[in-house]
This record gives sequence, structure tokens and C-alpha cells, in this order.
Amino acid sequence: MSLDPMDQDIEALDERLAGTALRPQDAGYDAARVIFNGMIDKRPAVIARCRSVGDVQLALGFARDHGMPVSIRGGGHNVAGHALVQDGVMIDLSLMRAVEVDAEALLAHAQPGASWLDFDTATMAKGLVTTGGTVGSTGIAGLTLGGGIGHLMGSYGLTCDNLVSADVVVADGSIVRAGPGGDAELLWGLRGGGGNFGVVTSFTYRLYPLGPLYGGFLMFAWDHARDAFRLYREVTSSAPDALTCSFVALTDPASGHRFAGISACWNGDAASGEAATKVLRESVPVAVGSLQEMTYADAQSIFAEIPYGLRHYWKGHFLPAMPDAVVDGTIDAFSVAPSAKSVILVEAPHGAAVRTPTEHAAFTHRDARYNLSAFSIWESPDDDAENVAWARAYGSMLEPHARPGATYLNYAGADEPVSSVRAALGGGTYERLVQLKDRYDPDNVFRLNQNIEPSKT
Ligand SMILES: Cc1cc2nc3c(=O)[nH]c(=O)nc-3n(C[C@H](O)[C@H](O)[C@H](O)COP(=O)(O)OP(=O)(O)OC[C@H]3O[C@@H](n4cnc5c(N)ncnc54)[C@H](O)[C@@H]3O)c2cc1C
Repeated sequence: MSLDPMDQDIEALDERLAGTALRPQDAGYDAARVIFNGMIDKRPAVIARCRSVGDVQLALGFARDHGMPVSIRGGGHNVAGHALVQDGVMIDLSLMRAVEVDAEALLAHAQPGASWLDFDTATMAKGLVTTGGTVGSTGIAGLTLGGGIGHLMGSYGLTCDNLVSADVVVADGSIVRAGPGGDAELLWGLRGGGGNFGVVTSFTYRLYPLGPLYGGFLMFAWDHARDAFRLYREVTSSAPDALTCSFVALTDPASGHRFAGISACWNGDAASGEAATKVLRESVPVAVGSLQEMTYADAQSIFAEIPYGLRHYWKGHFLPAMPDAVVDGTIDAFSVAPSAKSVILVEAPHGAAVRTPTEHAAFTHRDARYNLSAFSIWESPDDDAENVAWARAYGSMLEPHARPGATYLNYAGADEPVSSVRAALGGGTYERLVQLKDRYDPDNVFRLNQNIEPSKT
């Protein structure tokens, strides 16, 4: 038996958990600390692999008793890497992934470690759906708390807009219900204010009947990229709620050639979808791909999975409009991307996603019409400098066209300062979130996130 007091305390925690408490020397520790962004290499003192709300409370109590910092891991996708903590307690929720669907009430109750694939599988089985992340392995938790841009946002709003209640283990270890029958203000804060107020142990979402869908992905030769991007701007500037499109600049791994791509998801039948997307299919020569009737599973696999462990640095901005300078700057930027794994993604929030009032959700940026991001992705640490510089240069090109601080916090990197979180959320919203933070986490226990600082720090 170990004599080290910390080891003994972790062993005692392990015995009390329904899940497990892993120390650096334990089997499974290294696998449990793998997150999406391979640039983040932190070693928690203990990884609490929780299986219940009680486990979350025990892990939090352990951190409090030992004066250790805390991180929360949902799907582990956040590129800032806040899911990992150095020498602290990582509350790992990835074993808690059940999703229960109440088809009559049109609600889904999801545990916090569920991925979008877990979620979609459960809801689709009942013919229901909500706006979710577009890549299956992404965690529902972080994505929801930071906003949630998806193929159905034009019809149903952002993911956070569809969060109808949540249970939260707050800093003192108690459980607070956010929403009906509980704290409405906390629910407002969870819809865009991130993981600042506690560990969410249950998310309840509004669901919608799943009808027919039409869409897919069209790829255009790089020589036509500028025309394809202008076409995308034209289509998205007046798209009906039912049509959500994204623009992607990417390199085909098989040929090594650059392509421009447009994804389209029409929330309706094939005949009306065909009519609504005619201009997309016929204005610029399509190199590869077609649009057709599709299932929601097809829509959710338009964008390929990206393996965990690659190196990532992302920069982007929300823009209120897309001037020619941004169209040209985007195509020029991708033409010199140093890594063939990198992409530029342009999303177009519209419809219900931009009509939702600030009173409903802390998520700001309802005035934004585009979200443009350089996702710099590469393999070797030797190439860090040039790939980071490339994404930063793209961000700088966009900046003069953006409202100050208009950044999607779900895509923000670890080097985003607190001042930019304040700017991203906007003065009034930020101050209202500080009041919530003061109420639920005055000592900033939950600070490994896009942090809202309590007043007393
Ligand atoms: C491949 C890929 C695809 C993506 N696609 C989309 C997309 O389609 N739409 C979109 O909007 N975004 C998308 N994103 C961004 C995504 O929204 C963020 O990365 C988000 O943080 C992922 O959530 P997670 O639970 O997987 O992350 P994690 O890294 O596990 O968590 C991120 C942060 O969220 C907080 N958090 C997590 N769980 C909890 C909890 N239970 N309680 C309280 N706080 C918690 C913590 O602060 C944590 O640090 C994508 C990201 C990747 C890497």
C-alpha cells in the first residue's frame, strides 16, 4: 500500500466513486487525458471518471479540500484545451452519455458526456431532432454552453436556444435546477455563458419532428473558388430559414488539390429543396458532389470526422456582412495555407438563429451574418510557428470588418484573454453574467473556460 498521503486520498476517492479516480501511474490515465487538440499536454493530479451526479459532487469536494484547480471534460473537443488541468482535478464526464427521449413532450434529457452522435441516434430513433453540432464526436456539453451552430439553426435557432432546463452542481457542491421550477436567470446564462457556473449534469432540449431533408456537399475546382464564394454570399444573403449553407476551403487528401466547397441543408422536401438550391447547383461548374434527398444522419456526416491528437490553432470572427475584400482575403489566405490539413470554414447564422432576442440567451452576436474561421491543423511541433502565424494573419485580415470582440467563443483558443471574453459577450450581457458568477461561483472555482471573472477577483 502506498504511503504518500495524496495517493492515499486519491485511493479513498476512488473507493467512494461509482466511477474511478485515476492517478498518473494508473493504467488508463494517459488514454483518459487525450483531448482533441494535440497541442495541449497537461497532466492532472487526478482524473475523476464520473458515473453519477454524486461522483461529480465528490470530485468537486476533493478539489476543494485539497485546494486544487478544476477542469471539466465533456466531449474534449474545445481547442483551447480547457478540459485538461495541470496538477488539478479533471472532472471527466465522458462515461455519462445516456440520452432519454420523451417523444410526447418533445424533449430530450441528456447526460453531459454525450456526443452529438449519441444524441442524434437517440432522437432520430423517435423521428425527432434539434439543432446540434455537425461532427458526431463533438460533445453536446461545451457546444451547447457556448452557442451551437448547426445545419438546422435557420429553422430552430442555435443549440443553446433549445436548452429548456439543466441541472448544475455549483461550486459549493449543491445541485441547482436552471429553468422552469428553478433559476431562470441561470438558464439564460447557460445559453452562451459557457462552463462558468458549475458542472452541468443534465441537459434538457426541445425537439422537433424530423421531416424530409435535401442537400449535400458541392465541391468546386480552386480556379472557381472566388466565384463559388461569391455565389455562397449571394445565396446566404437571402436564404429562407429552411436553407442553411456553409462554405469550406479545403485540400483533397487524395489529390492534394485545393477545393472550395458548399454544404447545403434544406429542411423540407426534395422538390422544394431542388428549387431553393438550383442557383447553387447551376451557377458555377461543380467538380464533385451533388445535392439530393437525405436523412439527418447524412446531413450530420457532410463534414468528416477529424481524428483526436492533431495540432490545432483556430482564429476567426463574426461579421455583419461579407465585403469583397473579405471574399478575396479568404481565397488569398487559403491559397497560402502551410498545411494541407487546414481549412477555412464560413458559417451563415440566419433565420431563427438571429431572430432570438438577447433576453432569451446570453449568447450575443445575433447581429452577425457570417462566422469566418481559419482552422489551422497540422502534425509536427516543428511546424507550430508558421501554422499559428497563418491563422493569426487570417484573423487580422477579418478584424477591421468585425464588431470589436466579435469572436465565437466555442472556437476561441487558449490565448484569448479575459478582455476578449468580455468584448465577445458584450458589456451588458457580460455584466449580467458577472452577477450570476458572483452568486454561484464567487471564488472562480470554474475558471478553466472562456472566463467570466467574479467581481471580487
Ligand atoms: C471537430 C469539431 C467540430 C465542431 N463542430 C461544431 C459545430 O458544428 N457547431 C458548433 O457550434 N461548434 C462546433 N465545434 C466547437 C465546439 O462547440 C467546442 O469545441 C465545444 O467546446 C465542444 O464541446 P465539448 O464538450 O466537446 O468540449 P470540452 O473540451 O469537453 O469542453 C469545453 C468546455 O466546456 C465546458 N464544459 C464542458 N462540459 C461541461 C459541463 N458538463 N458543465 C459545465 N461546463 C462544461 C468547460 O468549460 C470545458 O472546458 C466543433 C469543434 C470541433 C473540434
